[in-house]
Amino acid sequence: MEKQKLAATLQKRFYNDSYSNVILSPAACPFNAVDIPGEDLYPEIVEQASSAIVLVDGKDRVVLFNPAAGQLWGRSKDEVVGASISQLMPPMKDGHTPGQSEIDHLVGHNVELPIERPNNTRVWAEISVSRIQAMGKPMRLIIAKNITLSKVHKAFRYQVLRAMAQTDSLLEIMTLLCQEIQRIAPEISATVTQIDGEGRLRSLVAPDFPQHTAALIDGIEIGPKASSQAIAAFRGEPVLVRDIEHDPGWSVGRRETLALGYKACWSAPIKTRDGRTIGILTFYYRVCRRPNNLHARLAEIAVSLCVLAMERAASFSRIHHLAFFDDLTGLPNRSLLHIQASQAIAHAARNNERLAVLFIDIDRFKKVNDSLGHPAGDTLLRTVASRLREATREVDILGRYSGDEFIVVLTQCDSVHASELAGRLLVALSAPCRIGEVTLMPAASIGISLFPDNGRDMDALIHEADTAMYQAKQKGRGCFSFFSGQLNQIAKERLTLETALRDALSGNELEIYYQPQINIETHQLHGIEALVRWNSSQLGEIAPGRFIPLAEESNLISPLSQWVLNEACRQLAQWRQHDLAIPSVSVNLSPTDFHNLNLKLPQYLEAILRSHGLQPSDLLIEITEGVLMDSNPDTMRTLHEIHALGVRLSIDDFGTGYSSLGYLRHLPVHELKLDQSFVRDLNRDRATRALTNAVMHIGDSMELTVIAEGVEHPTQRNLLKAQGYQVVQGFLFSPPLPPTALERWLDENLSFTHWE
Ligand code: C2E
Ligand code: MG
Ligand code: MG
Repeated sequence: MEKQKLAATLQKRFYNDSYSNVILSPAACPFNAVDIPGEDLYPEIVEQASSAIVLVDGKDRVVLFNPAAGQLWGRSKDEVVGASISQLMPPMKDGHTPGQSEIDHLVGHNVELPIERPNNTRVWAEISVSRIQAMGKPMRLIIAKNITLSKVHKAFRYQVLRAMAQTDSLLEIMTLLCQEIQRIAPEISATVTQIDGEGRLRSLVAPDFPQHTAALIDGIEIGPKASSQAIAAFRGEPVLVRDIEHDPGWSVGRRETLALGYKACWSAPIKTRDGRTIGILTFYYRVCRRPNNLHARLAEIAVSLCVLAMERAASFSRIHHLAFFDDLTGLPNRSLLHIQASQAIAHAARNNERLAVLFIDIDRFKKVNDSLGHPAGDTLLRTVASRLREATREVDILGRYSGDEFIVVLTQCDSVHASELAGRLLVALSAPCRIGEVTLMPAASIGISLFPDNGRDMDALIHEADTAMYQAKQKGRGCFSFFSGQLNQIAKERLTLETALRDALSGNELEIYYQPQINIETHQLHGIEALVRWNSSQLGEIAPGRFIPLAEESNLISPLSQWVLNEACRQLAQWRQHDLAIPSVSVNLSPTDFHNLNLKLPQYLEAILRSHGLQPSDLLIEITEGVLMDSNPDTMRTLHEIHALGVRLSIDDFGTGYSSLGYLRHLPVHELKLDQSFVRDLNRDRATRALTNAVMHIGDSMELTVIAEGVEHPTQRNLLKAQGYQVVQGFLFSPPLPPTALERWLDENLSFTHWE
C-alpha cells in the first residue's frame, strides 16, 4: 500500500514535470483505456527509468534510489538508502556538506552539479528538485541526468575560448587547456607538444611533469619510433601505448615517465584544416588502460581548441616577426633593437654595470649595390648579419639598424672588451665573400659609445656611436673608433653644415667663380673652369673642399651638380650674347652623378644645353679618376653617352688616382688635368719633373689636351712650357673670379703677352 501511494505521488509529479514523457498519467492519456498502464506499473517504471530518481525525506535521508541513480553516483542502493543526502551532493564552496536548506534552494531550478564518484571520477549531472507529499509526509524528489559529455563540451570550450580572448600567450592557454582536462577527468595528465618548422618535437606544456622530464622530448624527429608523440605525428592518427614499460617503440624518457607513475598514454595529432600536423595532445594514465568515451570526447574538443590557439599564435608570431624583425637578415629590426637595448641599459643602470654600443657600417656598400646589383647587396647584408651573429654572444643584442648599418649592444662590457670585440668583428667581417662570380673583400667601420660615460639612453648612445663610426670612416675605413666629446662637437658642426647647405641650395647662397685656362703658346683663352662658392649667411665662407664631400654623403650632390651645370651654362650663354669670346666652360661633377640613374645625366646635359642655346662642344665635364675606375656598367654607359653627345670629358687631378694607362686608352676622354701637387713640386724635385714630362707624353701620344693646374710661379710655367705644356691654369694668371670680375679680367688681359 505504501508503495502504491508513493507511485501515485510520483505519477503526479512526473505528469507536471519536463520529464513527463517517462511516465504517462492515466487521466491525461489520449489512448484507449485498455493501453493505459495500471498504477502498479509505476514502481517498475521508476526502476527502469533512464533518469536518476532519488527521494529524500524531511530528515535528509534518502528513501528511494533507483538503479539509474546508482549508475550516476556510482553507488549501490543499499549503501545509500537510509543515509544522508549530503553524501550524494557536492560539498559547498566553503567545504561544508549540503543539507536540507541547500537542497531547498534548488527547488524549482535545473542546476548542473559535479558528482564525485567513489572511484575518484567525476560526472556532471543536471538536477531538478521538487517538493512533494509522499506517504503523507513532505519529501524532496530529486531527478538527475548525466550530462557529463555535453557539459564537458560546453564548459571546456568556454574556458579555453575565454582564455584566448584574455591572453595572447599560447603557453598560458595551453596550460589552462591541460588543467581543464585534468579537472574534468582527474585520471588524466595532459600534455601538449608542438612540432617545429624542422619536423621536430618541442614540449609546449606538461603541467604535471617536471621541466627536465618534459624537455626530454625536445628535438626528437617525427618518425615511427621514439615516443607516442613522434609516432602519432608520423602517422597522422592517434596512438595508444597501453603499457609504456613494455612498449617496443618507446625509447625516449621511458624510465623517467615510469618513475612519475605513468603506465599508459594516448597521443592524438593536432591537425590544421589543410591536414598538417602541428602538435600532439597526449593523455597519460597511471594504469594500463585505453581512453574511455569521455576521454575521446575531451581529446576531440581539446584538439580543435589546440588548432585554433596554435594557428592563432602562429599568425601572431608572423605579425610579430614582421613588426620586429628584419625580413632580409632575420635580425631584430630597429624597433625591437630599441626595446631590447633599452631593457639592457635599464638593467645595467640598476646593477651598476657598463655596456657598449657598436655602430657598424659596411664600407662602400653602395658601390656593391650599384655595381653588382641589389641581389648581390642583399647577399652581402645577409653574410654580414650571419658573421655578426657568429661573432657575438647570446647575451649581446644584435640588430639591423637600417640599410647597411648594424648595431651590437654588448652587455657587461667596458672599453677594453668593446675594442677587443670590435677588432674581432672587423676580422670576421673582412673574410672573402663570394657573390655569384665575384669575390668581395667586405670591410666595415665601427663606432663605439659606452654606457654610462657617453650617454644614459639608447638614442644618445646610438647617436654617439654613429658619430664615432664616421670618425672611423675618416681614419681610412676598416677600423673602429671610440666616441669622444670632441667628436660630438665635430658631429654637431657637421649637422649644422648639412642643414645650412640644404638651405643654401634652396636659397641663393651659392655662386660660381670662374678660373681662366690660358694657352701659353697662343696667349689665347683656352676655356674657363666653373668652381662653386658658398658664402653662408650663417656660417660665412665655406670652401668646396669642405662642403662637397658633405654633399656627397648627405645626398645633396645631385641637386648641387644640377644647379652648377645650369648656372654655368646660363652664364656662358649670357656672355655669348654679350659677344664675350669664351670658348667653353668646364664643370666638375662627382662620381655619384654618374651612377645616379634617376638623374639621367646625358639627357639632362642635352636638355640644359638646348635650353640655353649652347652646343655640346661648349661644355666640358671634369671627372676624377675614381669615376673611370668605377666597375659599374651604368657609369661606363653614361660616359659613352656623354661622349656621343659631343660633350667633352676631362680627367681632373690626373696622376693622383690609379688609372691604368692601358685602360685610359679605351676611354672617351678628351683632356687630362695634371694635378696641382705635381706643379707645386716641379722646381724642387727632379722625379716630379720626370713625371710631369711622362704625363705630357701620355697626353700627346693619345692626342689629349693636357692642362697644368695650380701654376703659381713663372718658373713653374717655364718648366711646363719647356716640357710641351700648352694650357695652364693657376693663380699666376688669375684666381677663380666672380662673373663680373672675370669679364673685367678678360677685358684687361685680352692679350697675354705681358706674362712672358
Ligand atoms: P679642382 O676641380 O681640382 O679645382 C681646382 C682647385 O684649385 C680650385 O679649388 C681652385 O680654386 C684651386 N686653384 C686654382 N689655381 C690654383 C693655384 O694656383 N694654386 C692653388 N693652391 N690652388 C689653385 P676650389 O675652388 O677650392 O675647389 C676645390 C675642389 O672642389 C675642386 O678641385 C673640385 O674638385 C671641387 N669643386 C669645386 N667646385 C665644384 C663643383 O661645382 N662641383 C663639384 N662636384 N666639385 C667642385
Ligand atoms: Mg676641376
Ligand atoms: Mg683639380
